[in-house]
Amino acid sequence: MTSTAIRNNWTLEEIQAIYDQPLLDLVYQAATIHREYHSAREIQVCTLLSIKTGGCPEDCSYCGQAARYHTDIKVQALLPTETVIAHAQKAKDNGSTRFCMAAAWREVRDNRDFDRVIDMVKGVNELGMEVCCTLGMLTEEQAVRLQEAGLHAYNHNLDTSEQYYKEIISTRNFDNRINTINNVRKAGITVCSGGIIGLGETHRDRISMLLTLATMPKHPESVPINALARVKGTPLEDNPKVDAWDMVRMIATARIVMPASTVRLTAGRIEMTESEQAWCFMAGANSIFTGERQTLLVTPNPGVSEDMQMLQHLGLQPMPNKKEVTAC
Ligand code: SF4
Repeated sequence: MTSTAIRNNWTLEEIQAIYDQPLLDLVYQAATIHREYHSAREIQVCTLLSIKTGGCPEDCSYCGQAARYHTDIKVQALLPTETVIAHAQKAKDNGSTRFCMAAAWREVRDNRDFDRVIDMVKGVNELGMEVCCTLGMLTEEQAVRLQEAGLHAYNHNLDTSEQYYKEIISTRNFDNRINTINNVRKAGITVCSGGIIGLGETHRDRISMLLTLATMPKHPESVPINALARVKGTPLEDNPKVDAWDMVRMIATARIVMPASTVRLTAGRIEMTESEQAWCFMAGANSIFTGERQTLLVTPNPGVSEDMQMLQHLGLQPMPNKKEVTAC
């Protein structure tokens, strides 16, 4: 039995009051709610693969894949379907239950590349993994095609607050983001949407972003919380490193206002100690991205053996594959 109700009518003041609590009180509240909705011993292990890298026409100021910034990231065309499926199989063998494919596109176009992505979705789905894609903006019809191919989740982060959005990206607006998320929902695909801290936003912006997520008619099933990965050559390369306690505070608040969602400790783990990550798990994070390639898209990330060792130290275990458990 759960006693904390899921609410979609949060106010900014309420979320601010949660966020501003003394840290230990906040973590205690989040950990308590986390245990009502989730098994606190289980962490979902996911793998993210860049299926098309760089050369993106957008100007997201944190991103090394934007064509206009001079970064060390190599442009790579859409990977062959067999290569992607082989990566997914490897990820599954290493304990991942969710496989996310990312393409550096502004939006999906109805062309042969999209047909190939549809084949990739079908192929990964056949492996019995949760399939997720992040491909940029999406129409309702395209979302339906992905759903019919077996797509489980679509990632489209808000990145930051509505008020701060234009400081970070000028080539699209916040409403475009919401529109794609609505198209994903209408198609019956689960929503993965969160944000990044360390972009130069205020605490109020962070709270406002959580408010947008927590007042959606249905909370995103998946909420990634990222710390800015500072990429050389991007406008934000010299931003200060995100304080680990800020990540803990953000994760705990997300956990309290969206109790049933999977809160993912995403980018920035490479700069966190094992103890700092443990605090994030205590605060309600219940997923990490890992893999043999030791990258998260195009930025460094801990490798799978290091992560498995960390989970073991902390008495945590990879979440079983729900699709396979259900099938059994
Ligand atoms: S975050 Fe995505 S949309 Fe923005 S520049 Fe990078 S690849 Fe393009």
